[in-house]
Amino acid sequence: MRFILTKRIVAVIIIVIAFGVLVFIGLYGGNKPLESIVTPPIATTDLGPKHEVIGYSVDGRAIEVFTYGGGNTHLLFVGGMHGGYEWNSVLLAYAFMDYLDIHPEAIPDGFGISVIPSINPDGVYKVIGKEGHFDIADVSTSGNFSPGRFNAHNVDLNRNFDCKWKSKSTWRGNVVSAGTAPFSEPETAALRDFVKNTDQQGVVFWHSQSNAVYASECENGILPVTRDIMNVYAKAAGYPAVDVFDAYEITGDSEGWLASIGIPAITVELSTHDTIEWSKNLAGVKALIGYYAQKNGVNK
Ligand SMILES: [Zn+2]
Repeated sequence: MRFILTKRIVAVIIIVIAFGVLVFIGLYGGNKPLESIVTPPIATTDLGPKHEVIGYSVDGRAIEVFTYGGGNTHLLFVGGMHGGYEWNSVLLAYAFMDYLDIHPEAIPDGFGISVIPSINPDGVYKVIGKEGHFDIADVSTSGNFSPGRFNAHNVDLNRNFDCKWKSKSTWRGNVVSAGTAPFSEPETAALRDFVKNTDQQGVVFWHSQSNAVYASECENGILPVTRDIMNVYAKAAGYPAVDVFDAYEITGDSEGWLASIGIPAITVELSTHDTIEWSKNLAGVKALIGYYAQKNGVNK
Protein backbone atom coordinates (compact mmCIF):
# COMPACT_ATOMS: atom_id res chain seq x y z
CA MET A 1 0.00 0.00 0.00
CA ARG A 2 2.71 2.35 0.93
CA PHE A 3 4.64 1.35 -2.24
CA ILE A 4 1.58 1.88 -4.48
CA LEU A 5 0.97 5.29 -2.96
CA THR A 6 4.58 6.25 -3.71
CA LYS A 7 4.16 5.14 -7.32
CA ARG A 8 1.04 7.29 -7.56
CA ILE A 9 2.90 10.26 -6.11
CA VAL A 10 5.70 9.75 -8.63
CA ALA A 11 3.14 9.54 -11.43
CA VAL A 12 1.54 12.80 -10.28
CA ILE A 13 4.94 14.48 -10.12
CA ILE A 14 5.75 13.31 -13.67
CA ILE A 15 2.40 14.63 -14.94
CA VAL A 16 2.98 17.99 -13.23
CA ILE A 17 6.50 18.26 -14.71
CA ALA A 18 5.22 17.29 -18.18
CA PHE A 19 2.48 19.89 -17.94
CA GLY A 20 5.05 22.47 -16.91
CA VAL A 21 7.22 21.65 -19.91
CA LEU A 22 4.22 21.96 -22.24
CA VAL A 23 3.34 25.38 -20.75
CA PHE A 24 6.98 26.50 -21.18
CA ILE A 25 7.03 25.38 -24.84
CA GLY A 26 3.70 27.09 -25.37
CA LEU A 27 5.05 30.36 -24.00
CA TYR A 28 8.55 30.42 -25.37
CA GLY A 29 8.65 27.85 -28.15
CA GLY A 30 6.85 27.36 -31.42
CA ASN A 31 6.81 30.24 -33.86
CA LYS A 32 6.72 33.03 -31.34
CA PRO A 33 10.01 35.02 -31.58
CA LEU A 34 11.67 35.41 -28.23
CA GLU A 35 12.21 39.14 -28.77
CA SER A 36 8.49 39.73 -28.93
CA ILE A 37 8.26 38.54 -25.36
CA VAL A 38 11.34 40.02 -23.79
CA THR A 39 11.80 43.32 -25.72
CA PRO A 40 9.53 46.25 -24.89
CA PRO A 41 7.92 47.98 -27.89
CA ILE A 42 10.10 50.69 -29.46
CA ALA A 43 8.71 54.23 -29.45
CA THR A 44 8.09 55.36 -33.02
CA THR A 45 7.74 59.09 -32.42
CA ASP A 46 11.35 60.13 -32.96
CA LEU A 47 12.49 57.93 -35.80
CA GLY A 48 12.74 60.95 -38.12
CA PRO A 49 11.46 61.17 -41.67
CA LYS A 50 11.20 58.27 -44.04
CA HIS A 51 14.15 58.61 -46.43
CA GLU A 52 13.96 57.32 -49.99
CA VAL A 53 16.16 57.62 -53.05
CA ILE A 54 13.76 58.07 -55.97
CA GLY A 55 16.33 58.17 -58.74
CA TYR A 56 19.78 59.30 -59.80
CA SER A 57 20.90 62.36 -61.72
CA VAL A 58 22.77 62.18 -65.03
CA ASP A 59 26.05 62.11 -63.08
CA GLY A 60 24.74 59.50 -60.65
CA ARG A 61 23.89 61.65 -57.66
CA ALA A 62 21.01 60.42 -55.50
CA ILE A 63 17.72 62.26 -55.71
CA GLU A 64 16.31 62.05 -52.22
CA VAL A 65 12.87 62.48 -50.72
CA PHE A 66 12.15 62.81 -47.01
CA THR A 67 8.59 62.15 -45.82
CA TYR A 68 7.31 63.33 -42.45
CA GLY A 69 4.14 62.00 -40.87
CA GLY A 70 1.77 59.86 -42.88
CA GLY A 71 -1.83 59.47 -43.89
CA ASN A 72 -4.11 60.23 -46.77
CA THR A 73 -3.26 63.89 -47.36
CA HIS A 74 0.03 64.15 -49.25
CA LEU A 75 1.81 67.41 -49.90
CA LEU A 76 5.12 67.72 -51.70
CA PHE A 77 7.73 70.49 -51.55
CA VAL A 78 10.52 70.63 -54.12
CA GLY A 79 13.68 72.71 -54.08
CA GLY A 80 16.45 73.16 -56.58
CA MET A 81 14.78 72.59 -59.94
CA HIS A 82 17.28 75.12 -61.22
CA GLY A 83 20.17 73.68 -59.27
CA GLY A 84 23.01 75.87 -58.13
CA TYR A 85 21.68 78.90 -59.97
CA GLU A 86 18.87 78.94 -57.40
CA TRP A 87 20.76 77.34 -54.52
CA ASN A 88 18.73 79.34 -51.99
CA SER A 89 15.66 77.27 -52.94
CA VAL A 90 17.62 74.17 -51.87
CA LEU A 91 18.66 75.78 -48.59
CA LEU A 92 15.04 76.76 -47.95
CA ALA A 93 13.99 73.13 -48.43
CA TYR A 94 16.65 71.96 -45.97
CA ALA A 95 15.58 74.65 -43.49
CA PHE A 96 12.02 73.36 -43.77
CA MET A 97 13.23 69.81 -43.07
CA ASP A 98 15.22 71.03 -40.06
CA TYR A 99 12.06 72.71 -38.82
CA LEU A 100 9.93 69.58 -39.23
CA ASP A 101 12.59 67.54 -37.41
CA ILE A 102 12.08 69.59 -34.27
CA HIS A 103 8.42 70.53 -34.78
CA PRO A 104 6.56 67.31 -35.57
CA GLU A 105 3.46 68.97 -34.13
CA ALA A 106 3.39 71.19 -37.25
CA ILE A 107 2.10 68.19 -39.20
CA PRO A 108 -1.59 67.46 -38.63
CA ASP A 109 -2.76 63.90 -38.10
CA GLY A 110 -3.29 62.17 -41.41
CA PHE A 111 -0.75 64.30 -43.29
CA GLY A 112 2.30 63.01 -45.10
CA ILE A 113 4.62 65.87 -46.01
CA SER A 114 7.38 65.03 -48.47
CA VAL A 115 10.36 67.20 -49.30
CA ILE A 116 12.66 66.76 -52.28
CA PRO A 117 15.30 69.29 -51.27
CA SER A 118 17.42 69.06 -54.40
CA ILE A 119 15.84 67.73 -57.58
CA ASN A 120 18.84 68.83 -59.69
CA PRO A 121 21.85 67.78 -57.59
CA ASP A 122 24.32 67.95 -60.50
CA GLY A 123 23.44 71.60 -61.03
CA VAL A 124 24.04 72.29 -57.34
CA TYR A 125 27.35 70.43 -57.36
CA LYS A 126 28.51 72.36 -60.41
CA VAL A 127 28.60 75.67 -58.55
CA ILE A 128 28.52 74.74 -54.84
CA GLY A 129 30.86 71.72 -54.97
CA LYS A 130 28.83 69.88 -52.30
CA GLU A 131 26.37 67.02 -52.22
CA GLY A 132 23.38 66.75 -49.89
CA HIS A 133 22.78 69.16 -47.04
CA PHE A 134 25.09 72.14 -47.56
CA ASP A 135 25.35 75.38 -45.64
CA ILE A 136 25.34 79.01 -46.71
CA ALA A 137 29.01 79.15 -45.72
CA ASP A 138 29.69 76.67 -48.56
CA VAL A 139 28.45 79.17 -51.14
CA SER A 140 30.95 81.43 -52.84
CA THR A 141 30.14 85.12 -52.61
CA SER A 142 31.17 85.65 -56.20
CA GLY A 143 31.21 83.65 -59.39
CA ASN A 144 28.90 82.72 -62.20
CA PHE A 145 26.01 80.62 -60.94
CA SER A 146 24.15 80.42 -64.27
CA PRO A 147 25.72 77.12 -65.47
CA GLY A 148 24.34 75.47 -62.33
CA ARG A 149 20.82 76.05 -63.60
CA PHE A 150 20.95 73.04 -65.93
CA ASN A 151 21.46 69.33 -65.39
CA ALA A 152 24.58 67.53 -66.66
CA HIS A 153 22.99 67.20 -70.12
CA ASN A 154 22.71 70.99 -70.15
CA VAL A 155 18.92 70.66 -70.07
CA ASP A 156 16.69 73.14 -68.26
CA LEU A 157 14.71 70.63 -66.21
CA ASN A 158 11.71 72.91 -65.85
CA ARG A 159 11.27 72.72 -69.64
CA ASN A 160 11.42 68.89 -69.76
CA PHE A 161 7.93 68.00 -68.46
CA ASP A 162 4.98 66.85 -70.51
CA CYS A 163 2.97 70.05 -70.97
CA LYS A 164 3.28 71.84 -74.31
CA TRP A 165 6.79 70.39 -74.53
CA LYS A 166 9.15 71.61 -77.26
CA SER A 167 12.77 70.56 -77.68
CA LYS A 168 13.92 74.18 -77.39
CA SER A 169 12.48 76.62 -74.94
CA THR A 170 13.36 79.95 -73.40
CA TRP A 171 14.85 81.39 -70.26
CA ARG A 172 14.67 85.16 -70.35
CA GLY A 173 16.18 86.00 -73.75
CA ASN A 174 18.06 82.71 -74.06
CA VAL A 175 17.23 79.55 -75.95
CA VAL A 176 17.60 76.54 -73.64
CA SER A 177 17.53 72.81 -74.27
CA ALA A 178 14.38 71.07 -73.07
CA GLY A 179 15.76 67.56 -73.62
CA THR A 180 15.06 65.08 -76.39
CA ALA A 181 11.50 64.27 -75.25
CA PRO A 182 9.29 64.93 -72.22
CA PHE A 183 10.90 63.22 -69.22
CA SER A 184 14.06 62.40 -71.19
CA GLU A 185 16.08 63.44 -68.12
CA PRO A 186 16.44 61.11 -65.13
CA GLU A 187 15.70 63.92 -62.68
CA THR A 188 12.30 64.76 -64.19
CA ALA A 189 11.45 61.07 -64.66
CA ALA A 190 12.19 60.49 -60.95
CA LEU A 191 9.82 63.29 -59.96
CA ARG A 192 7.13 62.01 -62.35
CA ASP A 193 7.34 58.48 -60.95
CA PHE A 194 7.30 59.65 -57.34
CA VAL A 195 4.24 61.82 -57.94
CA LYS A 196 2.42 59.05 -59.78
CA ASN A 197 3.11 56.58 -56.97
CA THR A 198 2.09 58.81 -54.07
CA ASP A 199 -1.25 60.55 -54.81
CA GLN A 200 -0.14 64.11 -54.04
CA GLN A 201 -2.85 66.68 -53.32
CA GLY A 202 -0.63 69.70 -53.70
CA VAL A 203 2.90 70.48 -54.82
CA VAL A 204 5.03 73.56 -54.07
CA PHE A 205 8.16 74.35 -56.08
CA TRP A 206 10.62 76.79 -54.61
CA HIS A 207 12.53 78.96 -57.10
CA SER A 208 14.17 82.37 -57.17
CA GLN A 209 14.12 85.31 -57.80
CA SER A 210 10.87 86.68 -59.28
CA ASN A 211 9.28 87.58 -55.92
CA ALA A 212 5.84 86.05 -56.52
CA VAL A 213 3.66 83.00 -56.09
CA TYR A 214 2.39 81.64 -59.39
CA ALA A 215 -0.54 79.34 -60.14
CA SER A 216 -0.23 76.73 -62.89
CA GLU A 217 -2.08 75.47 -65.90
CA CYS A 218 -1.56 73.47 -69.05
CA GLU A 219 -4.43 73.26 -71.54
CA ASN A 220 -7.47 73.47 -69.27
CA GLY A 221 -7.01 76.53 -67.11
CA ILE A 222 -6.07 76.91 -63.46
CA LEU A 223 -7.47 74.30 -61.08
CA PRO A 224 -9.65 75.84 -58.32
CA VAL A 225 -7.46 74.41 -55.55
CA THR A 226 -4.37 75.75 -57.31
CA ARG A 227 -5.79 79.24 -57.21
CA ASP A 228 -6.72 78.79 -53.55
CA ILE A 229 -3.27 77.65 -52.47
CA MET A 230 -1.56 80.35 -54.53
CA ASN A 231 -3.61 82.96 -52.68
CA VAL A 232 -3.25 81.31 -49.27
CA TYR A 233 0.54 80.99 -49.52
CA ALA A 234 1.05 84.40 -51.10
CA LYS A 235 -1.08 86.23 -48.53
CA ALA A 236 0.58 84.56 -45.53
CA ALA A 237 4.10 84.94 -46.92
CA GLY A 238 3.67 88.43 -48.28
CA TYR A 239 4.48 87.68 -51.92
CA PRO A 240 2.33 88.92 -54.80
CA ALA A 241 0.00 86.26 -56.22
CA VAL A 242 0.19 85.99 -60.01
CA ASP A 243 -2.03 83.71 -62.08
CA VAL A 244 0.26 83.25 -65.04
CA PHE A 245 3.96 83.82 -65.60
CA ASP A 246 4.03 85.80 -68.82
CA ALA A 247 7.44 87.48 -68.92
CA TYR A 248 8.41 85.02 -71.66
CA GLU A 249 7.03 81.78 -73.07
CA ILE A 250 7.68 78.68 -71.00
CA THR A 251 7.03 75.18 -72.32
CA GLY A 252 7.38 71.84 -70.57
CA ASP A 253 7.21 73.16 -67.02
CA SER A 254 6.61 70.83 -64.08
CA GLU A 255 3.69 72.82 -62.66
CA GLY A 256 1.85 72.77 -66.00
CA TRP A 257 2.34 69.02 -66.26
CA LEU A 258 0.88 68.58 -62.76
CA ALA A 259 -2.10 70.73 -63.75
CA SER A 260 -2.61 68.49 -66.78
CA ILE A 261 -2.97 65.43 -64.53
CA GLY A 262 -5.21 67.24 -62.04
CA ILE A 263 -2.69 67.96 -59.28
CA PRO A 264 -2.63 71.51 -57.87
CA ALA A 265 0.84 73.04 -58.01
CA ILE A 266 2.28 76.46 -57.29
CA THR A 267 5.64 78.08 -57.87
CA VAL A 268 7.04 80.19 -55.06
CA GLU A 269 9.72 82.56 -56.32
CA LEU A 270 11.89 84.04 -53.60
CA SER A 271 12.77 87.69 -54.05
CA THR A 272 16.56 87.25 -54.26
CA HIS A 273 19.06 84.57 -55.21
CA ASP A 274 20.82 84.52 -51.86
CA THR A 275 18.34 84.52 -48.96
CA ILE A 276 15.76 81.93 -47.95
CA GLU A 277 13.20 84.40 -46.54
CA TRP A 278 12.51 81.86 -43.84
CA SER A 279 9.86 83.56 -41.75
CA LYS A 280 7.84 84.48 -44.83
CA ASN A 281 7.96 80.98 -46.24
CA LEU A 282 7.27 79.31 -42.91
CA ALA A 283 4.13 81.44 -42.67
CA GLY A 284 3.22 80.44 -46.23
CA VAL A 285 3.74 76.74 -45.57
CA LYS A 286 1.77 76.84 -42.32
CA ALA A 287 -1.11 78.58 -44.06
CA LEU A 288 -1.01 76.00 -46.85
CA ILE A 289 -1.12 73.12 -44.38
CA GLY A 290 -3.95 74.85 -42.53
CA TYR A 291 -5.86 75.19 -45.80
CA TYR A 292 -5.64 71.45 -46.48
CA ALA A 293 -6.44 70.58 -42.87
CA GLN A 294 -9.62 72.62 -43.05
CA LYS A 295 -10.48 71.32 -46.52
CA ASN A 296 -10.05 67.72 -45.41
CA GLY A 297 -11.75 68.19 -42.03
CA VAL A 298 -8.64 67.50 -39.98
CA ASN A 299 -8.33 69.02 -36.53
CA LYS A 300 -5.05 70.83 -36.25
ZN1 LIG B 1 13.87 78.55 -61.24
